[in-house]
Amino acid sequence: MNAPGVLYVVATPIGNLDDISSRARTILGGVALVAAEDTRHSGQLLAHLGLRTPLLALHEHNEAARVEALLARLAGGESIALLSDAGTPLISDPGYRLVAAARERGFTVTPIPGACAAITALSAAGLPTHRFRFEGFLPARAAARRTRLAELQHCPDTLVFYEAVHRVGEMLDDLAAAFGEERQACVARELTKLHESFYWGTLAAVRAQLAADPGGGRGEFTLVVAGAPEARAGDAELGRVVQLLGEELPAAQAARLAARITGASRREAYALALRAGTEPGS
Ligand code: SAM
Repeated sequence: MNAPGVLYVVATPIGNLDDISSRARTILGGVALVAAEDTRHSGQLLAHLGLRTPLLALHEHNEAARVEALLARLAGGESIALLSDAGTPLISDPGYRLVAAARERGFTVTPIPGACAAITALSAAGLPTHRFRFEGFLPARAAARRTRLAELQHCPDTLVFYEAVHRVGEMLDDLAAAFGEERQACVARELTKLHESFYWGTLAAVRAQLAADPGGGRGEFTLVVAGAPEARAGDAELGRVVQLLGEELPAAQAARLAARITGASRREAYALALRAGTEPGS
């Protein structure tokens, strides 16, 4: 009996065809079948590489129905390369069902890494990268999108969004409304392509730069937005102490004691006491 085939998850360029890896090229030429999101699109890539590997369409509408047939081919010893139109499959692209099913049945799944717009944008955005959160596409409906942004308002991680060109302006407005115009951001347009551009600064500045760029209304966009400033560890404690003392004492006295207990500055404690309206009887 044949050894089972391998499912290769192959990343392809997000614009510049030179970004295909030589390993990806070898795999695409060696497998029995390429399962592609769009066979015409991936056919052009294969032709560019001088390859004639057979293609089969695997997109979000037929993935569930095709999984069994593809697993049967793996079982029969044929290796398969999974491709999306651009970048890394499964990242806001089809393929999850196939990869999960292949793992469940014990087939070998091998990633062939390469371009991914989120990571490419993040690597050049000049925003913190030690912790980031990939949000992909937010809902197209304005109300649902704003609800999600409200949930993310206090997230301290750098946020990465994909967005369709016709919604980028609206998305920037929603981001500014939810996070404040002063939040730092970087919008990456047409990464790795001829008109690659970055718009960087506060959300208000990014919006203005994009509006001023004659090419700013065209292309593909990835948005990177800084996380919310981390609340200092002592802030919550100071607030709690000010609140408790303020229930019994005048604001100035509550602030003086709270500052001594927590080590915070008296001015900070007093401002908190006033904001909380802790004056007895207030
Ligand atoms: N799987 C892909 C990846 O690994 O990046 C992403 C696929 S998703 C359907 C397509 C979205 O990715 C675009 O709408 C855009 O937000 C982002 N994108 C793809 N190529 C890009 C590029 N060259 N420059 C900026 N953003 C890009």
